[in-house]
Amino acid sequence: MKKALLSSLCLSAAISFAPATSAADIKLYTFNCGEIDMNDLSLFARGGEFDGRTNKAGDACFLIRHPKGDLLWDTGLPKAIAEAEDGFTNGPYKLMLPKTLDAQLSEIGVSANDIDFVSISHSHFDHTGNLNDYAGATWIVHENEYADMFSAEKRANPQAIAAYDKLDKSEKIKFTGDHDVFGDGSVTILSLPGHTPGHTSLMVNLENSGPVLLSGDLYHLTESRELRTIPTFNTNVEDTLKSMDRFEKLAKESGARVIIQHEKDDTDKMPKLPGYLD
Ligand SMILES: [Zn+2]
Ligand SMILES: [Zn+2]
Repeated sequence: MKKALLSSLCLSAAISFAPATSAADIKLYTFNCGEIDMNDLSLFARGGEFDGRTNKAGDACFLIRHPKGDLLWDTGLPKAIAEAEDGFTNGPYKLMLPKTLDAQLSEIGVSANDIDFVSISHSHFDHTGNLNDYAGATWIVHENEYADMFSAEKRANPQAIAAYDKLDKSEKIKFTGDHDVFGDGSVTILSLPGHTPGHTSLMVNLENSGPVLLSGDLYHLTESRELRTIPTFNTNVEDTLKSMDRFEKLAKESGARVIIQHEKDDTDKMPKLPGYLD
């Protein structure tokens, strides 16, 4: 059903968040898209709350199967990391990938070419690792994130855009504000900037499991949510705080199950493949 929806999509829908609409037959799959030893957790709290600590984080990505198409949310660490037996050290991080996203998708009978829509919470390397594999899908991207990813400065440095340069030629749906992916209120990309200029989270309204909120990197840990810590590398502190306020309001009003994508305590409780939430 690739591209079937394009003609009916509102290209930059700035919706006000309506009460949960759930579409029957939506399935939410969770993939292990990496494991990250954070060897300097102080980077994740500019107020010093995590000084002297380390953390073992996950790196989840997700597939939403909707009757009108498949949406891949985040693409995790690059598949090459799966080949490094002892992981790969990148600055303050040790990166591991037990199984590639391709291999996990194939467990549920899906190949990269089947994916209709791809969207990323934001453009950091641990969310864009395999993005070029999905250049054939329609890329749904926040205008501000797109502008940052393909800025003149980054275009001048091929290494900076190597993980996603093929998407420059992809079909795109660029949006500002929020974006209702399938036009029925069941899957909404939420504009929650601050971690990066066009950072987003995802609300998925499931028929049986109810609403689920995928955090992106608005928070990295359960503790970050409790303490409202702001990473030292966020692009805008004020926007981050506003985004946290908005996320919490949505979470409260909807009663959503919040999944912090790097928090193993959250993602370990999601169904293991080939299982899913519906
Ligand atoms: Zn990030
Ligand atoms: Zn991340």
